[in-house]
Amino acid sequence: MGGSIDIEALCLKKGLRITDQRRVIAAVLSEVDDHPDVEALHRRVSAVDSRISIATVYRTVKLFEEAGILERHEFQGGRSRYEMVQDEHHDHLINVETGDVVEFHDAELEELQSRIAARLGFRLVDHRMELYGVPVTKPE
Ligand SMILES: [Zn+2]
Repeated sequence: MGGSIDIEALCLKKGLRITDQRRVIAAVLSEVDDHPDVEALHRRVSAVDSRISIATVYRTVKLFEEAGILERHEFQGGRSRYEMVQDEHHDHLINVETGDVVEFHDAELEELQSRIAARLGFRLVDHRMELYGVPVTKPE
């Protein structure tokens, strides 16, 4: 997700110095609508400016993560993957064949989780829900 998010403005707000290379990486990130790992990001960044190394992408992503601009996911069986921090909560379904990530939000599930926490004597403040699946081919 992302699209309309102005990472440069966010960097300014968080007091991050914005260099030319960071500006390119920020621009690529603001177009991200999947959950790329650093390698995938570097490929996209390279297409804009081939002088930017993977180490720079790695460092910048870490910096953005620390600044609360990016969220890191450790999906099972893969490298760290990133997306912009969003106001709206969502969960993830990971296609184990392709690594593609489907985002979803389910009010009933959210409710159920709160109820479970409450039953155990807690007020839920956060959760992580990752579903792993293979696509089902519908019979003809
Ligand atoms: Zn997501």
